[in-house]
Amino acid sequence: MNIHCDYCGSAFDPEENAVCPQCGAPWDRDAEKGRVRAAEEKREKEKKAAADTENLFRAADAIQRTVGTVGRAAGSVHRVLRVVFWIIFLVVLVIILSTFFRVFLPFFGL
Ligand SMILES: [Zn+2]
Repeated sequence: MNIHCDYCGSAFDPEENAVCPQCGAPWDRDAEKGRVRAAEEKREKEKKAAADTENLFRAADAIQRTVGTVGRAAGSVHRVLRVVFWIIFLVVLVIILSTFFRVFLPFFGL
C-alpha cells in the first residue's frame, strides 16, 4: 500500500523505501502507520457492517422461507379440513334425509 510523503506529497511504497524517493524526506512512520491503521479499521468496520447486513438479509430470508413453509402447510391443512368438513356435511345430510324419508314417507302412504 502506497503512502504519501508529508513534505512533497509524492506517493511511494514504505515497504521498499526508507525515505521518500522524490525528496529524500524520512516519512513519519507512526503518523503514517496511524493513518494506515485507521484506514484498515475503517475498511474492516465497513466489511463487518456489510457482513452484518448480509446476515440480516439471510436471517430475513430464512424467516420468510420458514413463514412460507408454515403458510403452505397451514394452507394444505386448511384444504384437508375443508374436504373433511364437506364429507361430514354430506354424510350428515344423507343421514338426515334418510331419517326424514323413513319417518315421514309412511304418512303419505309410500
Ligand atoms: Zn517527498
